[in-house]
Amino acid sequence: MNNSGNEHRTDTVGATAGARRIGGHVSAAGGPDKAVERAAAIGANCVQIFSGSPRSWKRKPIEELDAEAVSEACAEYGVSPLITHSLYLINLVSEDPALVEKSMDALRYDMRFDALLGGSGIVVHLGSHQGRGWEAVRGLLRDRIAAILAEAPAGAHFLIENSAGQNGKLSSDLFEIRMLLDEIASPALGWCFDTCHAHAAGFHLGDPSGQGKTAVGSKDARDAGSAIAEIERLKLWDELVCIHVNDSRDERGSGRDRHADIGDGLIAADDLSFFLNYTPIDRPIILEVPGVDAKGPDKENIDRVRRIVGED
Ligand SMILES: [Zn+2]
Ligand SMILES: [Zn+2]
Repeated sequence: MNNSGNEHRTDTVGATAGARRIGGHVSAAGGPDKAVERAAAIGANCVQIFSGSPRSWKRKPIEELDAEAVSEACAEYGVSPLITHSLYLINLVSEDPALVEKSMDALRYDMRFDALLGGSGIVVHLGSHQGRGWEAVRGLLRDRIAAILAEAPAGAHFLIENSAGQNGKLSSDLFEIRMLLDEIASPALGWCFDTCHAHAAGFHLGDPSGQGKTAVGSKDARDAGSAIAEIERLKLWDELVCIHVNDSRDERGSGRDRHADIGDGLIAADDLSFFLNYTPIDRPIILEVPGVDAKGPDKENIDRVRRIVGED
C-alpha cells in the first residue's frame, strides 16, 4: 500500500529506522519526563500521556513544564513520538456554554503543551451532540476546532479520535472525521483510530473483502462493515497520525467502550492482526489496555503487539 502522504509528520514519526513505534499510555506523575522513563521501562518506544488529571480541569501553569527534561529523556530512551490525550470532560458542542468554554480552554492548553514538548499531537474525544444529531452540531463543531487551531502555536496538532458509538457520541462514523478534515483543511488537524472504539461502533478490523472473523453481537448490535474499506473509501490513511490498539470486553457493535488486553477480548485475533499489518508502518501504535496486573499498558501487551506485527 502506498502511503506517501503525511510528509509534515515524518520527522517525528518512525524516527528509529526499522522498528515500528509501539508504546502505551502511561502516568505522567512527577512530570512528563518521568512518563518517558516509565514507557521505556515497559519496552515502549513511543508514549502517550495526559497533561494533568483527565477528570479535572485543573492544570499547572504551562511555564512550569520542563520541556528540556522531556526532550532529554526522549533522546536518552529513544522514545518518540510523544502523544497527549485530552481530558474526558470535553464536549465541544454541549448546550451548556460554560462547558464549551472550559472545553476550549482545556484544548488550548493541551495544544500549547504539545507544541512545548515537541509532541506529535493531542488526541481528542469531541463530545456528544446530546440527541440533537450530527447535522445540528457539525457547523459549531467545525468552527470551534478551527478557532482552537487558529490560536495554537506552530507545531501543535489536534487529532480527532473515533468514538465507540455510544448515545450521541461524535465521530463514531468515520465520515464525520472526513468532513471535519475537509472543511477545516489545516495541516494541524489529523485523526487517531482506536480499534476498541471501532469494534464497539460495529466495524470489523479484518480483511475488507470479507465479513471479518469477529461476530457481530446479538442484541441491538450495529454492523458497520469493514473499517479498512471505510477508511479507504473516505481516503483517511494520510491524515491518520496514530493508532490506539486495544482489545474489547464487549461484543462487536455493542456501543460500549471497555478496553481489554490484547488477545484477551472479543476482537478476533485474525482481524486485529490483519488490521495492524495493513496499517502504514510509520504510524505509532499506542496501547490503552488494563494490563495483566491491572496497572495499565505493560511489557506483556507490548510484546503481544510486537509478535502480531512480526517483531519479536
Ligand atoms: Zn481516547
Ligand atoms: Zn483511544
